[in-house]
Amino acid sequence: MRRSRKVKIVATLGPASETYDMIRALHEAGADVFRLNMSHGTQDDIREKHRIIRQVEQDLNSPIAILADLQGPKLRVGTFAQESEELQTGAAFRLDSDPAPGNINRVCLPHPEIFQALAAGATLLVNDGKIRLEVTGCGADYADCAVVAGGTISNRKGVNVPDVMLPLAALSDKDRSDLEFACGLGVDWLALSFVQRAEDVIEARTLADGRAAVLSKIEKPSAVERFDEILAVSDGIMVARGDLGVELPVSAVPPIQKRLVRRCRAAAKPVIVATQMLESMIESQMPTRAEVSDVATAIYEGTDAIMLSAESAAGNYPVEAVQMMDKVAIEVEADPTYTQIITASRSIKGSSVADGIVAAAREIAETTDIKAICCFTQSGTTALLTARERPGVPIIAMTSLRGTARRLALSWGCHCVMTSELERFKSAVVNAARAARAAGFASETDQIVVTAGVPFNVPGTTNILRVAPCDERLIYHTDPG
Ligand code: PGA
Ligand code: MN
Repeated sequence: MRRSRKVKIVATLGPASETYDMIRALHEAGADVFRLNMSHGTQDDIREKHRIIRQVEQDLNSPIAILADLQGPKLRVGTFAQESEELQTGAAFRLDSDPAPGNINRVCLPHPEIFQALAAGATLLVNDGKIRLEVTGCGADYADCAVVAGGTISNRKGVNVPDVMLPLAALSDKDRSDLEFACGLGVDWLALSFVQRAEDVIEARTLADGRAAVLSKIEKPSAVERFDEILAVSDGIMVARGDLGVELPVSAVPPIQKRLVRRCRAAAKPVIVATQMLESMIESQMPTRAEVSDVATAIYEGTDAIMLSAESAAGNYPVEAVQMMDKVAIEVEADPTYTQIITASRSIKGSSVADGIVAAAREIAETTDIKAICCFTQSGTTALLTARERPGVPIIAMTSLRGTARRLALSWGCHCVMTSELERFKSAVVNAARAARAAGFASETDQIVVTAGVPFNVPGTTNILRVAPCDERLIYHTDPG
């Protein structure tokens, strides 16, 4: 699916977006990546959504990334007999280990180890911090609380305990089972929730064993502190502002977002800015001006992707929310100030041949009227390095590996095209020119830049840069190889 923007859109799927027609409409409207939230829904639900996405991908011949988001050591309350309850400020409320449906007086918190770690005076934040509980007393399997700030509590809402060190493993038994299940299905990305240190990521990587790329969600203060070591062992990052803004003062989130986005770009790893981007569109057809500005800010910062959560999963206007992000992105990216900011924040390049070639490709795009940079890539690395340059023209990532094409759907500016395994550079150039024309990025009279590694199909060999015509007859006449 050809896009008119560089930044990517991640749409979370849920009850508002589970049919073939809706998922197809979301992809056509601009969703490049679909997030399956393993915190909600059964493995059967996930399997069905995965099947539909792959069907859409096949029907539209457009690589789509699927990101399976593991719940991680996130605390959630159980369910309620009435689905939700209104907790009044000043009331008493108990969290316990009884799996029976909750009511206005109590609900299950199915993490028995937490009750041991709690003490009177501890704060519990429910539903993204909207409800504030203070522990008044606790035992081995319960905590009695006072409702300090009331609100609606409903099935499986999240609980944060910012001021207590919780004795939780990085991956729960459910996460291990979900990870194996998601890798078996063939998802492209695994997102790890509540990562605290590099070891958490390494553990998941070992289990995934190359079957899916691993993205770390930064939503704990300790992950912010150890960000560099986490980034070094991750394939991508999510600035998970929802929990981050609960665990830390909400005012601390914007500077962290800016810093993380820059570091990810410098490391040539994709980064997603997530949560509440168009929150009011859950209920309303029009977002607030502040939300539009938030989406724009993330794009100006140079993020790879912006994400919809409840807006697309459970809202009334999933397609409109994607369309809104798409429109904002097109406006921002056409703004000369955007180009200035993106250019000014370009980081020092590395010292490999590939680093030199991608920088040269970008410079050619800046000085001449070439229409696209086509890079032949097997691991995806050359496309990621090209994306780090943030060139003004589309990046056409050509690969014979379906998994690479799908993973790159998350990365800034990458239009992914499947190609047969190549043996000769000339046929690569012909394929690149065809792909650029087929996507509508170039016409017969245009020129493109092609980068590749010869011999083909040996990773890490990027060593050719060619400015090529898009007219096949000219390629055959002029190409030496
Ligand atoms: P979640 O992660 O939606 O899985 O909680 C994102 C966030 O915390 O912002
Ligand atoms: Mn979260």
